[in-house]
Amino acid sequence: MAELIFDNHTHSKHSFDGCEEVFDICRSAIEKGVKGIAITDHCELGVYYLDDWHQQLSELKDEIAAAREQFGDRLDISFGVELGEPTHDPELAAKVLNSFDYDFVLCSIHNVRDTKDFYFLSDTQFDRKKMIDLYFAEQLEMAKQNLFDSFAHLTYAYRYLGHSAGTPEPRDYEELLRELFKTLAQNGKALELNTSGRYRTPQLEMMPTLWEFKLFKECGGEFVTLGSDAHKAEFISGGFDEGKELLKAAGFQYQCFFKNRERKCYKL
Ligand SMILES: [Zn+2]
Ligand SMILES: [Zn+2]
Repeated sequence: MAELIFDNHTHSKHSFDGCEEVFDICRSAIEKGVKGIAITDHCELGVYYLDDWHQQLSELKDEIAAAREQFGDRLDISFGVELGEPTHDPELAAKVLNSFDYDFVLCSIHNVRDTKDFYFLSDTQFDRKKMIDLYFAEQLEMAKQNLFDSFAHLTYAYRYLGHSAGTPEPRDYEELLRELFKTLAQNGKALELNTSGRYRTPQLEMMPTLWEFKLFKECGGEFVTLGSDAHKAEFISGGFDEGKELLKAAGFQYQCFFKNRERKCYKL
C-alpha cells in the first residue's frame, strides 16, 4: 500500500505572513502524493491580533469549498485554523472558535504575554531563563485550556533562541512537560511534529525533538499529527520522511487527520 501523507499545518494567503492561493496549495499537495491537507491560517489573539480575522477565515472557508469541488476526488481538504496565543484572550478565542465549523484547530504560542514573537527578539535584550520559564508556563496553560485538536510546535522558542549558554533546555522543564503531556493524553489530544526546520537553509531541528515525543509517549500520549507549516506550496510535506522515522523511533505507529474536528488515525 502506498504511504499515506497527511499535512496538518499549512498557510495560504489568508495568513498575515502567507501568499499562496488555496488552489495552488492543493495542486502542489496532489503532485507530492499527499492524501489529506489542513489549511490552518493564522488567527493571532495577542499582540499580533488583526481585525480582519473573520474576513480572512471566511474567504478561506469559501475557497476550500471551491477547492473541494475541483480536487475532492484526489485530495481530502480540511478547513483549519492556527489559533495563536489563545490564553491571552480566552473570550476572543471562544468567539473565533464559535464563528466557523472548523475541521481542525491548532493552538500555538509565538510570544509570551506583552512580548514580541521570538522571531523578533535579539540575544541581548532579555533574561533568557526568565523568558523560557514564562514560555513553558504559558504552554502548560494552553494545554489545560484545551481548545485545540493538536498542540503546535512545542519548542518554537528554541528556533530563535537556540541552545546557547544561559538558555535552559527543555530537559530542565521535564516535570512541567510531564504535566503538559499527561494533560494532552488525558484529553485525547494530539501533539504536532512540526517539520518546518528541516527544509529550511540552514536546517534547524524538528519541533519538538525525539526526546519530547518519547516523553509524550511515556506520559500516555497516543496521538500525533505531522505538519510542514509550509507558507509556500512547494514545501508541503517537507521533512516528512525524517519526521515519520522520528515518530516511529518514539514508539508511535499512527498519524492523525481531522475532519469536523474528529480524529482519524492512519499508519505512519
Ligand atoms: Zn505557528
Ligand atoms: Zn503555522
